[in-house]
Amino acid sequence: MPATDLVQVVNLCKRRGFVFPSAEIYGGFRSTYDYGPLGVLLLRNVKDAWWRSMVQLRDDVVGLDAAVLSPPAVWEASGHLKNFTDPLVDCRNCHQRWRLDKLDDPRTCPNCGAKDSFTEARQFNLMFKTYAGPVEEDAAIAYLRPETAQGMFTNFLNVLQTTRKKPPFGIAQVGKSFRNEITPQNWIFRTREFEQMELEFFVPPAEAAQWYEYWCAERLQWYVDLGMPREMLRLRAHDADELSHYSAGTSDVEYLFPWGWDELEGIANRTDYDLTQHAQHSGVRLDYFDPATNERYVPYVVEPAAGATRAMAAFLLAAYDEDTVDGEARTVLRLHPRLAPYKVAVLPLSKKETLTPLAKELFRTLAPRFMCDYDDTQSIGRRYRRQDEIGTPLAVTVDFESLDDKAVTIRDRDSTKQVRVPIDRLVDEVAARLAF
Ligand code: ATP
Repeated sequence: MPATDLVQVVNLCKRRGFVFPSAEIYGGFRSTYDYGPLGVLLLRNVKDAWWRSMVQLRDDVVGLDAAVLSPPAVWEASGHLKNFTDPLVDCRNCHQRWRLDKLDDPRTCPNCGAKDSFTEARQFNLMFKTYAGPVEEDAAIAYLRPETAQGMFTNFLNVLQTTRKKPPFGIAQVGKSFRNEITPQNWIFRTREFEQMELEFFVPPAEAAQWYEYWCAERLQWYVDLGMPREMLRLRAHDADELSHYSAGTSDVEYLFPWGWDELEGIANRTDYDLTQHAQHSGVRLDYFDPATNERYVPYVVEPAAGATRAMAAFLLAAYDEDTVDGEARTVLRLHPRLAPYKVAVLPLSKKETLTPLAKELFRTLAPRFMCDYDDTQSIGRRYRRQDEIGTPLAVTVDFESLDDKAVTIRDRDSTKQVRVPIDRLVDEVAARLAF
């Protein structure tokens, strides 16, 4: 059963080295996190799984890695300088700040319970502002991007000209974004520094509605294919009053988090808004000339925008399980093999000199193909528990018989079943079992 309490996963992640509070030795830095030895692997696997599905397996999408720092002109054109705001209220009683649109009850302070104690809402811009260069003057103002999307729009022509793609085609990007959130919360679900995975898919305007439906279905399925239970996911279409002014349709892929349904990803039909805005503000024509029809048009954009760090939280919650094996309670992360930090753990039964050379040799055989852990500490039972808890799908145990029969045991994380396989077939046996 997936985790019902965020604390279960937060504690496991701290204890096992997935996620640490940032600057912890200085008392921490509010709602900022560092990804530890296992977290960096899991997060990378989430991003790689997205890239594989969105770029590698498609002939109509190319990648991009645009700068995080950008000049005000970009954000003027995109509308972020004016509109990228959240309504901020202060409680006059306890002086806590809140984001009004995220409160369950907009009249009651969630901290002190005071009624009608909020100040008038102020629009607070979420962009981080800084200065490029040594002088802090207006001409040097720069912004940290609050989304990766704009880099795809400002490079539309560069990509069009260098790749010879034509609509329908997409530009994909994975990278850091920054938002000065009023109330970062729920661990890595909402932070001020986070990672996004975004696709801008440029299409002939008449095909936009159809591609929007396509991407909604496709993106929901991505989470299912990576092991999230279908019943913990839903697609929620935005109501008319929720839609951004430029959107002709937006749906969120939502996960049933311990605090209720919440957004994993948004899929929007952004019309020709972005390219038109950038064309107007830059004076550069951003459109496509179709030689087949002799027509020039501004493509519409369908955008699936996901959070990598937020998805990682959801994958951890969904994979978390507690069960009993041989009368003993265990915690197990049933992560999809593609996402699991380590695919295989090599475990010599004992630390004795006799076993070490063979175990190390097996590690060297497996490591070029699969991310492997090597562990020769503690009892074998405790080492299995540890690998279960960090989601390693397979453990390869080297015992004293291995020296004679040239075979090892493969143990499966989910069933805990063990099979003996000849060492010369180990790589194939492991590959067949991981099968991703
Ligand atoms: P919200 O309304 O919850 O602030 P949003 O709808 O503005 O979010 P988008 O701009 O659509 O979010 O961002 C796309 C995706 O980026 C989100 O679905 C989420 O996965 C991720 N994301 C956005 N803000 C954050 C954040 N502060 N921390 C972590 N992930 C985020």
